[in-house]
Order: sequence, then C-alpha cells, then structure tokens
Amino acid sequence: MSIFKHFINGEWHASSQTRPNHNPSQPNQVVGEYAEASADDVALAVQAARQAATVWGRSTPQQRFDVLDFIGSEILARKQELGHLLASEEGKVLPEAIGEVSRAGFIFKYFAGEALRMGGQALASVRPNMEVLTSREAVGVVGLITPWNFPIAIPAWKAAPALACGNSVILKPSELTPGCAWALAEIISRSGLPKGAFNLVMGDGVAGRAMVEDPHVDAISFTGSVQTGKLIAQHCALHMKKYQLEMGGKNPLVILDDADLNIAVECAVNGAFFSTGQRCTASSRTIVTEGIYQRFAEAMLERTRKLKVGDAVAPNTQIGPVVDQRQLDKNLRYVAIGTEEGGQLLCGGERLAGDGFFFSPAIIENHNPQARLNQEEVFGPVSTLIRVKDFDEAIAVANATPYGLSGGICTSSLKYATQFRKDMQAGMVMVNAPTAGVDYHVPFGGSKASSFGPREQGNMAVEFYTKVKTHYIA
Ligand code: NAP
Repeated sequence: MSIFKHFINGEWHASSQTRPNHNPSQPNQVVGEYAEASADDVALAVQAARQAATVWGRSTPQQRFDVLDFIGSEILARKQELGHLLASEEGKVLPEAIGEVSRAGFIFKYFAGEALRMGGQALASVRPNMEVLTSREAVGVVGLITPWNFPIAIPAWKAAPALACGNSVILKPSELTPGCAWALAEIISRSGLPKGAFNLVMGDGVAGRAMVEDPHVDAISFTGSVQTGKLIAQHCALHMKKYQLEMGGKNPLVILDDADLNIAVECAVNGAFFSTGQRCTASSRTIVTEGIYQRFAEAMLERTRKLKVGDAVAPNTQIGPVVDQRQLDKNLRYVAIGTEEGGQLLCGGERLAGDGFFFSPAIIENHNPQARLNQEEVFGPVSTLIRVKDFDEAIAVANATPYGLSGGICTSSLKYATQFRKDMQAGMVMVNAPTAGVDYHVPFGGSKASSFGPREQGNMAVEFYTKVKTHYIA
C-alpha cells in the first residue's frame, strides 16, 4: 500500500487526516492512504505557488521545454507501471489505462514544443513611426481541479500548458484517484522545475473550494460536473478570476439508413460502453432512422451482450468496474428511472456477481427525446436507443438537450455528413467514428452547458493560460 502525500513548495507533506482509496475491481483492496488537505495546507500551497510564479514566469522557453520534455519522457518510460496504478484505482481496463498514461506523456511532449512556439504578433500601426506588438505572459497562479475518470490525462492536459506558459500550478485531483496525481507529482519533482511551481493537494471538494476562494489564485481550470462547475463559476465571476469549465455531456450518435452496419455498431458500442461509459464524450443516446432501426438494434444488442465485464487487469476484460458504489447505485437508479418512465430495458442494467463494482452495459429503448434518460447525464454504461423518421428528425433530437460536448453520425452520404457537421450543436463532431476518442494535440471542448471558456489541449490552450499585452514603441 502506498502513502500519497501532498507536494508543496518542493517537499512532501504528510497530513494528520488520511483516507484510503480502493480498487473498484476488488473494493477490499486499499490502493493507498492519501493525505487530506485542510484549508491551511491549501493556503501553504498557494503561497508557494505565488512565490514561484515570478521565478518560473521568467524562465526561458528552453528551460520550459527541458522540464516538460523530461516529464513526458518519464511518463512514457513508466507507462506499464502507471497503467497498472490507474487501472487499480479507477478501474479502467489495462490496455485503456496504459493508453491513457501514454496520452499524458505525449501531451507533455507536445507542450514542450509549444513552449518554443509561443509568441505574439507584429501589427501595422495607423500612426507613422509607431511599432505595435503583442506578447503573451503567464497568468500567474493557476488552480487545476480534476475529476476521477481520466486521472492522469486530465491533470496532464491542464498542467502541461499551464507550465509551458510559465504559470505556477496547484493541482487538486479527485479524492477517488489521488494515486495517479501523486505519481505525476513525483515525476515533476525530479524535472528541474523550481520549487513551488507545481504543488499537489489532495482531498475532497473542501480543498477544491478553498483553492477557488483563495484570493491569491489568479485562475481556475476545472473539469467535472455541471453542478460543481456552476459553483466555481459563481465565485470566479464575482471575484473577477479567470476560469475555464469542462463539464458533462449527453452525446448523441446518429445512425442513418445508409450507414455501414458494422461501422455503426462499432461506433455505438465503443462510444457508449468502453471506459465503462465513464467518459464525458460517451454516446449515451443512439438515434437511429427507421429503415435501419431493427437491423441495427439487433446487431448492437448482440455485440453488447458479448462484452466481457470484469476485473480491470484480467486478460480479456473489455469493460472494467464502475468507479465506486455511489456510481454503481446511480447506474441502477437510472435504469429504474428509464423503465418507470416507459422505456424498455433491452439488455444489461444489473449488478453482476463478484466483489467489484461490476455492472452489465445497459441499452434502454425510449423514443421520447424528453425522457429523463434522454436528457440527464448518467456517466456510466447506460445508453438509450431512439427511433426517428429521417435525418431532419435525427438532428433535431440530437440537439434537444442542454449539453453540447460531442456528437457523431454514421452515414455513407457526404451530403448528410456535411449537414450534420454544420447543424450539430457540439464542440466536437465525428463522422463514422465514436463520439469518444479524441487526439491529444488538437483543441478539445464543447458548447452549451458542457463547456465554458477557451478550449483545452492543442495550440488553443495557451488562450487560457496566458494574458496578452499590447506594446506601442515610437
Ligand atoms: P465533480 O464531482 O464535479 O468533481 C470534480 C472535481 O471537483 C473533483 O476534484 C472534486 O473533488 C472537486 N470539487 C467538488 N466540489 C467542489 C467545490 N465546491 N469546489 C471546488 N472543487 C470541487 O465531478 P466528478 O464526479 O469527479 O466527474 C464526473 C463529471 O466530470 C461528469 O459530469 C463528466 O461528464 C465530467 N467530465 C467532463 C470532461 C470534459 O472534458 N468535458 C472530462 C471528464 C469528466 P472531490 O471529488 O474529491 O470531492
């Protein structure tokens, strides 16, 4: 069993309060004891970050490159070991867990390069003999609040651009997955980054709230639920603090009559159930036109029933456990809601035998787009099937939720694919590909209630982590 300590001002800090985190495949197994931050611990981390902000903010692009490149290389070199840690605390199946770790490594590598590319603009002046330039500067101290479902990739896609832009950072991971954040901190502690430029505090939402409310934190980047996002937005808006929110989704996958059946089933099953459906980009609504509906539904059911649910590290497991008892109860509750409101449970939706939080992927048929199960995010392997008449109805249903993260279509028609890309109210659109599964080097984010603020990932990430200065030189 590991002891996960806070990392503050370049040193490891124990805490008088600790809590265990558990392996969702074998809940009796304790992965580690993690320190729980008090408001004082958070204040200490903020103070350290404040002091380091000047030092790291003045670092050269080469220094930033070297630090980030080192972190990326170390993560990639340890992907097997870190993949096992991730699988054991979050429940992602091992190949996906190792894939996530690799992604985190590549993100640091990408932003090492971005540190060298960062620059401003030279602009024409309306006045004679005047030079006008823009430059980018670090925002200062940035608080990063992350969820449990991508416990190393999401901290990486926030910390890497933050550091590449010269900010100092305080990371507050989810209390369910402190181990991956702790492993990341351990690698960063050996990267040559000045002390205090990266800090880790663990604990529940209390620590997160203390960080949001600390007046010495200049910006908050948050990924998690809409509910928490709204609380953070209220405080940040009132106190003129920069903020960025990545939140939930109710992502549609549209299947048209002319779709390739095999591709459509693959997209639907992968999008709805891989990573145990615990992806913000999961396709939790499959919207199918009537000409292909029956054939598609039968093929999706057949494929779903064959999915092997089990221990995250066991060979052949395709769907790992859900993350904890609370999420398992939530899945069961939504299956009950789905049937009570008139839906028909076509498969799965049950707790499976074994100690782990094992749940059989559920498909519920409910053609009413306003049903709760077609409107509310479950964040588990619970997906609905909705039959529609044609493309126009499909796009109307696809857009009929408050969310707008990702949306996909399976079709062989260029016309409909193009129309869908234009009309889908989402930050990311997929053609003949699952709604989940994104590249690590391109902008990521949604619209409507799914996201607020500049994009994460890719070259657009610098928008959030820098402020622009305009220079006039006569
Ligand atoms: P959550 O309950 O909102 O928690 C997210 C983080 O916020 C955790 O670290 C949490 O700490 C912290 N927190 C809770 N209350 C807080 C408060 N009042 N002030 C500051 N921080 C607070 O979300 P989750 O259950 O971990 O994650 C699932 C959600 O994340 C889903 O809705 C999913 O769609 C969304 N998600 C979105 C994206 C995206 O990019 N759009 C990606 C992944 C996940 P504790 O949990 O430790 O209490």
